[in-house]
Parts: sequence; C-alpha cells; structure tokens
Amino acid sequence: MKIKQKEQSLVCTVCGGILLSGALNCDYDKPESQAPWVGDYEAMNKGVLTHQEHLLIVARWSVHTEGQGQKIRDKFLAIAKDNWGKEQRLHLLDDN
Ligand SMILES: [Zn+2]
Repeated sequence: MKIKQKEQSLVCTVCGGILLSGALNCDYDKPESQAPWVGDYEAMNKGVLTHQEHLLIVARWSVHTEGQGQKIRDKFLAIAKDNWGKEQRLHLLDDN
C-alpha cells in the first residue's frame, strides 16, 4: 500500500516541482532525450492532460535547461513560480 505523506514532500528549489521522498534529483531535471513528457501531445489529445498542465511541465523542465533565450526563460520561470509546489503528474500515459 502506498502512503502519501504530503506534509513531508519537498519542493525543488529550482523549478518548484514536488520531489518524491528520498529522491535526490528533481524529476524535471533531465536532458530532453530522457524527458518524453515534454512533448506529450498525445496525452493532451487524449484529454488526460490539459494544455495548462502541459505548459507547467514544459515550464519546470525549461528552467532546469540551458540554451533558451532570456525572454522565454523569464516566461517559463513566471509560470513555474505561479505554480510553486503544485502537484503535477508526469508520464500520464504510462500509468495505464
Ligand atoms: Zn526541479
């Protein structure tokens, strides 16, 4: 049985994503090749992921990732800050 200990969950200091207990690295801190959920348009098409949720996933991933223009970084950082500590599932289609 999985017990959820929400009050003990930690939040990534970079992107505001929730760190699973015992996790050493943020789920969003991945190279693009290991981040298939960044382009998970299929999940959106199937309606398991809203555009807003997808935007948050991309935003959190982006603030961990170098190589973007300052303008787009600022935009994504603002989205990440607006949703700081908010729970957001990844790998939505893998759960089935
Ligand atoms: Zn993070």
